[in-house]
Amino acid sequence: MTDYKAPVRDIKFVRDEVFDFPTLWQSLPGCEEASPDLVEAILEAMATLCEEELAPLNQSGDAEGCTWTDGVVTTPAGFKEAYKKYAESGWPGLTSPEQYGGQALPPSMESILNEFAGSANWAWSMYPFLAKGARATILAHGTQELIDAYIPKMVAGDWTGTMCLTEAHCGTDLGMLRTKAEPNAEGSYALTGSKIFISAGDHDLVENVIHIVIARIPDSPPGTKGISLFLVPKYLPDADGNLQPNGVSCGSIEHKMGIHGNATCVINFDGAKGLLLVKLIVVLIACSPL
Ligand SMILES: Cc1cc2nc3c(=O)[nH]c(=O)nc-3n(C[C@H](O)[C@H](O)[C@H](O)COP(=O)(O)OP(=O)(O)OC[C@H]3O[C@@H](n4cnc5c(N)ncnc54)[C@H](O)[C@@H]3O)c2cc1C
Repeated sequence: MTDYKAPVRDIKFVRDEVFDFPTLWQSLPGCEEASPDLVEAILEAMATLCEEELAPLNQSGDAEGCTWTDGVVTTPAGFKEAYKKYAESGWPGLTSPEQYGGQALPPSMESILNEFAGSANWAWSMYPFLAKGARATILAHGTQELIDAYIPKMVAGDWTGTMCLTEAHCGTDLGMLRTKAEPNAEGSYALTGSKIFISAGDHDLVENVIHIVIARIPDSPPGTKGISLFLVPKYLPDADGNLQPNGVSCGSIEHKMGIHGNATCVINFDGAKGLLLVKLIVVLIACSPL
């Protein structure tokens, strides 16, 4: 097995001598606590997680891969335990706002940690990376009610997320998408359609997966002008916080040439309750494979 050694010395040189990030970080509003000592401790802790937990699972995870049985996706041995350690240590919330349980540290600091994690084990890293994108989308476009209902759980790492764009007949040209979103009486939407190639689309690392889905509302303009964006949880939290099934299922996982440890899924929406994030976004998305 190849040993992974996080390039801490090189990173420190670029961070301190080339970009002088520590001075920048301490000058940013809300980041005053990012002292050199704290930054140092974060860097060393992430290096340790990557070297001792993530890298040792890279080869075994690739050989074993994810499995799909009767709609249930299981990640390779060790992935779940490594994720638990990652979440319990607070890594998912490193850059998230403090009021939702995050640490509000600078994204440029997290980019260093992402480099370590991605190099140590790309397949594993894609689970938190996709979750981060979903979190950022909800924070940018969600109502306060949606943010309060979903973001704290995602910041804690209890729930992960995806982006659901691609369909069997449309990848690059998303204007051809067929997933439909029909208005429900109470303001939500019922989503019906099938997405393919959804990275981290379903798995056993967490109890809930929050899908960010593009779909077409009836009578929308054709092409990309008629695309809207929805939050569709695998399980809907009820008023007491209990999770209820929401018509979202994993139809299968892809058999790929690489990144076997990350589940690339067919995700089916059968009248799933969707909560509107953006109505009629004008997009031209060329979504390259992650
Ligand atoms: C490992 C992996 C993970 C993925 N994860 C996700 C995910 O998480 N979520 C998600 O939604 N999707 C995901 N995808 C899907 C990915 O976004 C699509 O593969 C991508 O958008 C391209 O679509 P396509 O495969 O249908 O190729 P096509 O759209 O058929 O394109 C094939 C080729 O034709 C070219 N082409 C297409 N249309 C035109 C045109 N009009 N003019 C000129 N050239 C054109 C393209 O550039 C490309 O070279 C993933 C894919 C992979 C392989």
